[in-house]
Amino acid sequence: MATTAPTTTAPPRRAKRRRGPGPRRATGLVNPTGLVGLQAPETSLPKPSAATLGDIERKVHAGERLSAEDGLALYACDDLPWLGQLARLVQRRKSGDDVYFNINRHINLTNICKAYCHFCSFRRSVGKEGGYTMSHDEIVSTAVSAAPKGITELHIVNGLHPELDFDYYLEALRRLRAALPDVHLKAFTAVEIWWFARITGLSYEEVLRQCVEAGLGSLPGGGAEIFAPRVRRRICGYKSTAEDWLEIHRIAHGMGLRTNSTMLYGHIETPEERIDHVLRLRDLQDETGGFQVFIPLRFHNEHNLMSHLPMATPYESLKVFTVSRLLLDNFDHMKAYWIMLGLPLAQLSLHFGVDDLDGTVVEERIYHMAGAETPHEVSQDDLLRRIREAGRIPVQRDTVYNVVQIYDN
Ligand code: SF4
Repeated sequence: MATTAPTTTAPPRRAKRRRGPGPRRATGLVNPTGLVGLQAPETSLPKPSAATLGDIERKVHAGERLSAEDGLALYACDDLPWLGQLARLVQRRKSGDDVYFNINRHINLTNICKAYCHFCSFRRSVGKEGGYTMSHDEIVSTAVSAAPKGITELHIVNGLHPELDFDYYLEALRRLRAALPDVHLKAFTAVEIWWFARITGLSYEEVLRQCVEAGLGSLPGGGAEIFAPRVRRRICGYKSTAEDWLEIHRIAHGMGLRTNSTMLYGHIETPEERIDHVLRLRDLQDETGGFQVFIPLRFHNEHNLMSHLPMATPYESLKVFTVSRLLLDNFDHMKAYWIMLGLPLAQLSLHFGVDDLDGTVVEERIYHMAGAETPHEVSQDDLLRRIREAGRIPVQRDTVYNVVQIYDN
């Protein structure tokens, strides 16, 4: 396991500034003791009739778009193998037997964060034990140390540090681009872009423009969580709204940036709220076509304020994958993030609509601090073996889905 020594020194702190766009009150900073009662609402969906399921199957075979009602019927359906067959049919039309992966390295510049998302085990407050902020030299040396592995991507997401200046992040991009000019910088979730706008007073477009000028290549999909205000208010009320998240991706797509999308599932959200989430993504994709992939992220329940909640079972996870694949008819790819699912379930998901297993990662902090027991790194040989074992063809891609190499023998 690669390690990076945390530091609490070095990076420049920003002076106090006027706030930019975004909410001005920390509505999510609730008393943690009030969270014990935070539970998923009881939902019992009526079992769909055979005629309803037959009509959905007909629509999928005909390539017709499914409705929110169809999505609910699918969530209420217990026939997981049937759901998997339908999802695989849709996935096969998009990418055949190919399964994508990339060679990448995750770097989290800081875990100091102003927000207090209840599902987050990664964040620390300023001055608290376990908090770290990497210096620019550490950032570069960490990235460069992964270069011999053949990485084509650095995946960079961070806390919303209340004292760091925007230029700290821009300088990180500049230094990384100078050190590794051929490596794609996929950096900063829409929530971070929202935060940079807030601390600088710049528009989202200007923040993105400066990031691109410094070396940004695309945006990761994090921070979407669940768009429904009922859930968002309760689990991550401080950070950007769903509307902000979607608007930032809309602007990024308009600037020619490709972006990813996610949904954090398996906590207090209802099936209706999952469907609302993916249909909002589908609507934006109809408008811009800028999303590359949808990534369902399984909530992990250790060391956070929602530890009393059970985690989604493999059955539930596969249902989320299948229903999402069937509803998101305008998305080319769906990724199983093996760090959160575990490699065995990620491999199984290849028969439930998934065509991407993410990358080699090297070091992961966010979900391991939430109790993920997966390794920090998977070797390329292990990824190839698991994809082939599932009867599929491994395809190494770069960040924007250009094919690097097909392993078809
Ligand atoms: S999820 Fe992100 S924004 Fe929320 S507390 Fe954790 S690091 Fe901060």
